[in-house]
Amino acid sequence: MSDLILFWHRRDLRISDNTGLAAARQRSAKVVGVFCLDPNILERDDVAPVRVTYMIGCLQALQQRYAQAGSQLLILHANPVQAIPALAATLDAKAVFWNWDVEPYSQKRDRAVIEALKEKGIEFLEKNWDQLLHSPEDIRTGSNQPYTVYTPFWKNWSSKAKANPVETLENAEGLTETEKEKAKVAGAIELPSAQELGFVWDGELVIAPTEAAAQERLEEFCAHAIDEYQQQRNFPATDGTSRLSAALKFGAISIRTVWQATQQALENSRSEETEASIRTWQQELAWREFYQHAMYHFPELAEGAYRDTFKNFPWQTNVEHFQAWCEGRTGYPIVDAAMRQLNELGWMHNRCRMIVASFLTKDLLINPQLGEKYFMQKLIDGDLSANNGGWQWSASSGMDPKPLRIFNPASQAQKFDPDAEYIRQWLPELRSIDTEYLVTGNITPLERQAVDYPAPIVEHKKQQKQFKEFYQQQKIQPLG
Ligand SMILES: Cc1cc2nc3c(=O)[nH]c(=O)nc-3n(C[C@H](O)[C@H](O)[C@H](O)COP(=O)(O)OP(=O)(O)OC[C@H]3O[C@@H](n4cnc5c(N)ncnc54)[C@H](O)[C@@H]3O)c2cc1C
Repeated sequence: MSDLILFWHRRDLRISDNTGLAAARQRSAKVVGVFCLDPNILERDDVAPVRVTYMIGCLQALQQRYAQAGSQLLILHANPVQAIPALAATLDAKAVFWNWDVEPYSQKRDRAVIEALKEKGIEFLEKNWDQLLHSPEDIRTGSNQPYTVYTPFWKNWSSKAKANPVETLENAEGLTETEKEKAKVAGAIELPSAQELGFVWDGELVIAPTEAAAQERLEEFCAHAIDEYQQQRNFPATDGTSRLSAALKFGAISIRTVWQATQQALENSRSEETEASIRTWQQELAWREFYQHAMYHFPELAEGAYRDTFKNFPWQTNVEHFQAWCEGRTGYPIVDAAMRQLNELGWMHNRCRMIVASFLTKDLLINPQLGEKYFMQKLIDGDLSANNGGWQWSASSGMDPKPLRIFNPASQAQKFDPDAEYIRQWLPELRSIDTEYLVTGNITPLERQAVDYPAPIVEHKKQQKQFKEFYQQQKIQPLG
């Protein structure tokens, strides 16, 4: 057996501060990366072209990083359960290392890969959590249960010491020419473009797909925006959030590096307000972990409502309403602006994600799973745990203890887009209409007709009442 260790990248598309890769490099000077384009994922019907475009960009950058380090990143396009062990065996690798993931599919796949590696006598790394600051096993209630409520989770999670970034030894030995030929026989291919994989995205990307771009964004955010995050984060017309979500989803930046930057910001903070802002941003990072831990412990979340009241909720199946929501043609300006942002940018501001999710479920009474899937089809940062968590929270079907939360689109717009800047940006046809009418949605039928903007497809008050009635019925006697 050779000294070669294959490092299997999945959602850690970087070299720096990568715990599994650092462990591999410590064990051997000869470390070669591998990424497997998995048909089980790419052929699902919820894959966003923008997400694949970002991912392929990250892989291109990663290949360059490996080349600079003196090694290679190999690309496979096959089922990893067979392809990874086969590649390792062909190259006579002594081990395959990777970082663990919380998603049900990943866990099942990884267990199958482990079985195949064991059969071939190839080593692997036991559960190594790189994408989280704390392993899901480490954060538990006093009675040793996983948390189902965020606030106590945050208290426990934030009180624990966090790991520092790890140093990944940059120089590694790569494959010989003979080994490269062998790798080709075992399925290694040139990295295809997103288009070659069937995903076309012509728009811009909210963040450039490299480690360097993510690092730069983090520095910029910590230097200029984190101090005011608490005040700015709810205003979608303001660039007040980090837009690091895709980089965190694909691991173009490490969570330890991000956390360390927040600690540094805290040290530099000169007022209680800025300190509170930085803590608020840390709490968002904790939401990310809360939902990942939840997915790990309760994989059934991926299948539908967590709460019994919502397991058989009489959701309506109005296809036209759903289509209007997807296209941003509901007649509610703040909802439509947000959906157009999603469709055109592949990203949506958090406040607006909550507004449109509430609108789909509480105003259109449509099953949140449809919205969840549509988000996955469009988002650059689409992530099972965060997306599912966000949808369950908005639909009131999740772990959140607050029973009912209904957003009024007009009050949301009045509060968070008071000058209708965001609405005008994404609904250019409404630019000439007075701000007051844009935020309240009280646009006359004549004006709507003049700019070809639809009348409201439902009446908020009426729908809210209907939703509450369904909810009460379900509480008393859930449909079986
Ligand atoms: C219905 C709905 C669906 C969502 N779907 C996703 C999704 O698919 N992928 C995703 O990454 N986030 C999702 N979110 C959470 C949140 O909207 C985005 O993480 C955030 O808008 C990304 O922008 P940012 O990077 O500028 O965030 P910032 O405000 O700068 O936050 C920093 C980071 O913290 C994490 N984070 C922030 N808020 C949340 C949250 N509520 N839940 C989990 N993590 C959070 C993200 O990694 C984010 O990049 C969803 C929220 C809702 C309400």
